[in-house]
Amino acid sequence: MEPSPPVVFVRRHPVGGYEKTAQAHREGTLHKMLEVTGQAEGPSYDLIVIGGGSGGLAASKEAAKLGKKVMVLDFVVPTPLGTKWGLGGTCVNVGCIPKKLMHQTALLGQAIRDAPKFGWNLNEKAIKHSWDTMTEAVQNYIGSLNWGYRVSLRENSVTYENAYAEFVGPHKIKATNNKGVVKFYIAERFLIATGERPRYLGIPGDKEYCITSDDLFSLPYCPGKTLVVGASYVALECAGFLAGLGLDVTVMVRSILLRGFDQDMANKVGEYMEEHGIKFIRKYVPSKIEQIKQGTPGLLRVTAHSTEDSGVFKGEYNTVLLAIGRDACTRKIGLEKVGVKINEKTGKIPVNDEEQTNVPYIYAIGDVLEDKLELTPVAIQAGRLLVQRLYGGGKTKCDYVNVPTTVFTPMEYGACGYSEEKAIEKFGEKNIEVYHSYFWPLEWTVPSRDNNKCYAKIICSIPEKERVIGFHVLAPNAGEITQGFAAAIKCGMTKKVLDSTIGIHPVCAEIFTTLSVTKRSRANILQSGC
Ligand code: FAD
Ligand code: NAP
Repeated sequence: MEPSPPVVFVRRHPVGGYEKTAQAHREGTLHKMLEVTGQAEGPSYDLIVIGGGSGGLAASKEAAKLGKKVMVLDFVVPTPLGTKWGLGGTCVNVGCIPKKLMHQTALLGQAIRDAPKFGWNLNEKAIKHSWDTMTEAVQNYIGSLNWGYRVSLRENSVTYENAYAEFVGPHKIKATNNKGVVKFYIAERFLIATGERPRYLGIPGDKEYCITSDDLFSLPYCPGKTLVVGASYVALECAGFLAGLGLDVTVMVRSILLRGFDQDMANKVGEYMEEHGIKFIRKYVPSKIEQIKQGTPGLLRVTAHSTEDSGVFKGEYNTVLLAIGRDACTRKIGLEKVGVKINEKTGKIPVNDEEQTNVPYIYAIGDVLEDKLELTPVAIQAGRLLVQRLYGGGKTKCDYVNVPTTVFTPMEYGACGYSEEKAIEKFGEKNIEVYHSYFWPLEWTVPSRDNNKCYAKIICSIPEKERVIGFHVLAPNAGEITQGFAAAIKCGMTKKVLDSTIGIHPVCAEIFTTLSVTKRSRANILQSGC
């Protein structure tokens, strides 16, 4: 470690002003630096993790298991509407977990509609969904997870502080809790895992009247007629389950659906949503939100402008949900005080392939990283491997290639590897072969719905013996399907291997063992049965 100057510890009094409490001199290791008098300072740490979300919690526990002295600081800044939550970060509180549970709620609605065809005698008039019951159940489960994380930190001897952390100097942070009490801590190394928060439009009325995904999952009333602004993961998933609960839902799309994804697949996701009652306003962006009526929900007037011409749209909605992207929480954590570089435009932190920032003792993982996937398992994997390399003699780096993902829209979309567009751009059209087919899940045949809506596509690299470089599926349980094939893709699966794999009948995934039609051939891929 670089030698560092003597450290002076100061503490902010609750009533203001600074008091010099102690001076510690470096004695070989940073640990020994902290010889503090009185009760002003806590101990120093091997590792301080800023952010107790997916990545931060995984990394902190791993480091403690390897015998290190670890602290994790987590603090949730309330949304403009005052929503806040417990330990665990985005995924648990306002992301993957409540989203998937609400998606499941919507799928159950479809199952109820299918049930009479299978002989269930339901009194359909009596079937109603209760937003309150759903949110209470979801929030109770989240509460149990929050508690579980605290217990698990304690069991792993990780010190947890519910406080906002910011760097104040080399190896030193300031932690402010919700009562304004300030403490200072030092550590040999730091890990930034502060994640992201939803972006606002910056137009009149947005912060006053709109909600984001940070508010939606614990909203104390049913949102009613909803306008969802945005067209990526968060927007389409939320629009999907809200419509599945029977609400009137419109999606306002600035440009395309699911930017970065295979557009053939993205458009099919959108078509299915439209066929299932979700409205789309394309190439418009909101310019003003006004409140017409207060209430829970109240009534809002949305004015929007065309991105192509002088068209103006006006509409009234009970709720406007902004899902226009997320900003990295890196601008208010004192990075400039320690010299950590961020991309000034995006706020994202560039790191080397070992998740190390330009300041050698400061690392970063998860959603704050530049040019990396914003997914829970990615943050967890990067955090664990980093800590194993730092403290456990590990050599493995996080592999950000071929990460599988699933968009939990009404028709789920699972993907791994290249989109068709990216594959053509990188390898050239003549070097790739695309095999595809529509299919009909057996479960949907008896209710006689949605034939030729599920779709399977693989993209193969011809010069590499048709190695599968892109996998795409629109199907129920697409995530479960994609997870398995992702492992095979990591092992270098080729089309021949897929062809020689015996299917499991009757499941959706078996379609990948029988793909025979190339997209190039333009042959008919519509199926007449399952
Ligand atoms: P986070 O989990 O966001 O944790 C960061 C923590 O740091 C937060 O608790 C934050 O409050 C805290 N913090 C910030 N600044 C400070 C500070 N200065 N001091 C102390 N604490 C601070 N991913 C999937 O893989 N699958 C999904 O299905 C999925 N669904 C999603 C649905 C939605 C609606 C959203 C928004 C995201 C979804 N994601 C999903 C993405 C996933 O939630 C994130 O990729 C993941 O949570 C990132 O983990 P992280 O550790 O980087 O940050
Ligand atoms: P995102 O992927 O950054 O998409 C933002 C969307 O908002 C885009 O459709 C974008 O349109 C639109 N937009 C941006 N600015 C706008 C404006 N001013 N007016 C109108 N529209 C605007 O953001 P996200 O959906 O919030 O997702 C964030 C990340 O969370 C994702 O990258 C993903 O990794 C993660 N996530 C994962 C899952 C999952 O695994 N199932 C689910 C949810 C989230 P343009 O295309 O025109 O730019």
